[in-house]
Amino acid sequence: MGMLQAIRGTRDILPSESPLWATVEGIAQQVLSQWAYREIRTPIFEQTELFARGIGEATDAVGKEMYSFEDRGGRSIALRPEITAGLVRAFIQNKLHAQGGVQRLWHMGPAFRYERPQAGRQRQFHQLDVEILGSRDPRADVEVIAIATQILNQLGLTALSLDLNSVGSGEDRQTYRDALVSYFTPFKDELDPDSQDRLTRNPLRILDSKDKRTQEIVVDAPSLLDYLSDDSQKHFDGVQQLLTNLDIPFNINPRLVRGLDYYTHTAFEIQSSDLGAQATVCGGGRYDGLVSQLGGPDTPAIGFGMGLERLIILLEQMGTFSTDVELDIYLISRGEKAEFQAVKLANDLRKKGYSVEVDLSGSAFGKQFKRADRSGAVLGLILGDAEAEAEKVQLKWLASGEQSGLAQTELIAQTEKIQAQIAELRKAAATS
Ligand code: ATP
Ligand code: MG
Repeated sequence: MGMLQAIRGTRDILPSESPLWATVEGIAQQVLSQWAYREIRTPIFEQTELFARGIGEATDAVGKEMYSFEDRGGRSIALRPEITAGLVRAFIQNKLHAQGGVQRLWHMGPAFRYERPQAGRQRQFHQLDVEILGSRDPRADVEVIAIATQILNQLGLTALSLDLNSVGSGEDRQTYRDALVSYFTPFKDELDPDSQDRLTRNPLRILDSKDKRTQEIVVDAPSLLDYLSDDSQKHFDGVQQLLTNLDIPFNINPRLVRGLDYYTHTAFEIQSSDLGAQATVCGGGRYDGLVSQLGGPDTPAIGFGMGLERLIILLEQMGTFSTDVELDIYLISRGEKAEFQAVKLANDLRKKGYSVEVDLSGSAFGKQFKRADRSGAVLGLILGDAEAEAEKVQLKWLASGEQSGLAQTELIAQTEKIQAQIAELRKAAATS
C-alpha cells in the first residue's frame, strides 16, 4: 500500500513554521482587543443552504468551489468557503442583536474552496475575519479598514495598496446591472466563456475577468460610480474623507466588485506587490442586506477576510521574525538515580517558570551535550551519578561553555538571579 498523503490543496503547518503563525495570530489578537473586538468561534461546516442563500449560487466560492456533501442523516452540509455567513448565522441564532448597539466580532480559522492549488491558493486555507454589525456609519467602514491596515503594518509588511470602491445600494446595483447587460450584450461572442455565463447570472463579475479580450471590452463599460444615488455617494465620500484624515492612502477602483453577492456600498481590497499572481491579502466590504436576508432583524454590517497563508508567505520572504525556540534549560542526565532525580528537578524548575527540556535518550554525555547545543536552550544542566549522590547539579552556559556546580536547592533558591542571566544572554544573542 502506498504512503498516505494529505489531501491535495491542504498543507501541514510544521513546528518550524508554527511560530510564524503564532506571531501573526498574536499580533492580530492584540490589535483586535485594542479596538474592542471580541472573539466568536463558529463551526467549520454548516447547512449548504446558508451559503447558497447568504453568499449566492452565482459566486465562484459557492457555485463552483464549495465542498458540499450529504451527511449520514441525508442533510446537505458544506465546509465553509468563508467565515462571514456562519458568523452572521450565529449572530442571528444567538440573538446577539438583542444586546443592542454595535457588535464588534472576530473569528480566525480554516475555510475551504475547491480551487486549483498554487502558491497562495489552497483548498484549505485560513482567514482572519473581522466584522462590525449594527452600524450604517462610514466610521464603521473606516474602522475595519484601519484595523486591517494596523495589523499589516505591525507585521512590518510594506508594498501594500488599498483599493476602494462603492458598489452602491441594492437598487443602485440593479440599475447598473441593466446598463452593464445592455453594454456587454453586443460583445457577447467575444467575451470569455465564464463572462458569457455571468452575463445573465452575475454581470458585475465580468468586470473582474482576467481574460485579455474581455478586459479590453471592460475598459469602456459604464462605471458603477456613475450610478450611485445621492445617499450612496454621500456614504462613499464620508469613507474617503475619514481615510484621508487617518492618513490611510487608497486608490479608487471602479472595477472592484468582489466575488460575493452580499456586498453593498463599500468594497475594498488590500494587495501586496510582493506576492505575484495571488496578490490580495485582504478583501472586505459592507453587507447591509445579509442579516435580514438570513432571517435576522435588519442590521447593517461591514467586515473583511484576511488570507493568512499569504501573510505567512510575505513574512517568510522578509525573514524578520525569529522562529527560534525560546527554551531556558536543557537537562542532561545519565545513570539510574540521576535520571530519576532529573524528572523531579525539571518539574520544580517549571513550577518556578523556566521552560525545560529533558533529554530522554540515556545516551553518552557527549551526545546529550550536542543535542543541548542544538536545542536553542540558554542553560544546560547536568546530572550524573556524582551530582545525584550529592543532590547537586552542574550548570553549563551553552553559548560560552562556562561551567560550575551548585546544590539543587540553591538552583531553585536562586531562580530570580538565574532567570535574569538567561534573559540577558538571550538578548545578547539576539543582537549579535
Ligand atoms: P482571490 O481573488 O485570490 O480568489 P477571493 O476574492 O476569492 O480572492 P475572498 O473571498 O475575498 O477571496 O477571501 C478573502 C481572502 O482570503 C483573500 O483576499 C485571500 O487572501 C484569501 N483567500 C481566498 N481564497 C483563498 C485560497 N483558496 N487560498 C488561500 N487564500 C485564499
Ligand atoms: Mg477566489
